[in-house]
Amino acid sequence: MLELILAIAALAAVLVVGLVATRSRSRRRLPPAPPREVLPGVGDDASPVLEAPSRPIDTVELPPVAEPVLEVPEPTAGRLVRLRSRLSRSQNVLGRGLLTLLASDKLDDDVWDEVETTLLSADVGVAASAEIVESLRNRTKVLGTRSPDELRALLRSELLDAIGDVDRSLRTVRHGDRPAVVLVVGVNGTGKTTTCGKLARVLVADGRSVVLGAADTFRAAAADQLTTWAGRVGAEVVRGPEGGDPAAVAYDAVKTGVERGADAVLIDTAGRLHTKTGLMDELTKIKRVAEKLGSIDEVLLVLDATTGQNGVVQAKQFAAAVDVTGVVLTKLDGTAKGGIVVAVQRELGIPVKLIGLGEGPDDLAPFDPGQFVDALLDG
Ligand code: GDP
Repeated sequence: MLELILAIAALAAVLVVGLVATRSRSRRRLPPAPPREVLPGVGDDASPVLEAPSRPIDTVELPPVAEPVLEVPEPTAGRLVRLRSRLSRSQNVLGRGLLTLLASDKLDDDVWDEVETTLLSADVGVAASAEIVESLRNRTKVLGTRSPDELRALLRSELLDAIGDVDRSLRTVRHGDRPAVVLVVGVNGTGKTTTCGKLARVLVADGRSVVLGAADTFRAAAADQLTTWAGRVGAEVVRGPEGGDPAAVAYDAVKTGVERGADAVLIDTAGRLHTKTGLMDELTKIKRVAEKLGSIDEVLLVLDATTGQNGVVQAKQFAAAVDVTGVVLTKLDGTAKGGIVVAVQRELGIPVKLIGLGEGPDDLAPFDPGQFVDALLDG
């Protein structure tokens, strides 16, 4: 009896172990079998043979991703040659006119009156014109006979004296641990934004890195324009919301310049009066706020040469509000009134540092008095 019970227990144990083993096997998931690799035309009987398509499979042509193509601005050195021809085309009215008058047989009062009128009509300004006439009168007396070459040399030195020998260097070199900061001011339409763009190119051509600040937040087009200029030479632009605080944009631009280790930050500003605050108050604020990160190195006033003496009036207003360190005289290619160069410096004591000679991207050049006067005289 005991043997029978033991036999039944052993049989039950075998059955239980077998059942558990079967259940655990059914629960284990096996990884799916890898699909059979079938090469076209090499299938076995059971597998379908993939046929080569009768025509090429259509491929979707993706549009090429546009790589920004950076322009290489013209080197600044080569610009002076072009500057001369642009100037002489419109400016020689002054130089040629004066040389013809000085070559008159007899230098009487009438001739000197005409010399003065020629100077005035070229926007040299009343005080400077009178001084130049006085000096020429004395020097021609001493000279006695007057050969064309002597007259040219005389007039050249007289005009150079009137323009003055002052420091015209642009402070655009990084110093200490921060970039040079340049504020560009002037009334609307004088060419501020264009000048910022051209100046960025000048600096890039000289191997510097530039950040542009679009602080003319009142004109969306100005920020767009600046962004286009910057994109062409790989400069960075800092802009704010339309109608936003221009001083905040200026501050952010300087901050970005510091963070990026840029060589120079150029800040374009608004040029028109707007609600509540006057333009000059706004500029003073922009300067003050931007200066929280360090002093401003240059305040460039952009003047349109075609506006003549009006430019001098504007310059006086700007100079009273922000400490203008240099003038950019634009559109000298479009006027015969180059005498404004003399007037601006004589009446304001601010050096002309750059001149604009056209709408082209590289039509901005450092002002060189010798080149300028030669262009006036040689036409
Ligand atoms: P902003 O309002 O002072 O910023 O003036 P813009 O930069 O928008 O320039 C006003 C117009 O003057 C644009 O059509 C420029 O292309 C043009 N301009 C700027 N500089 C010169 C220049 O040196 N010569 C000529 N002919 N046109 C210029």
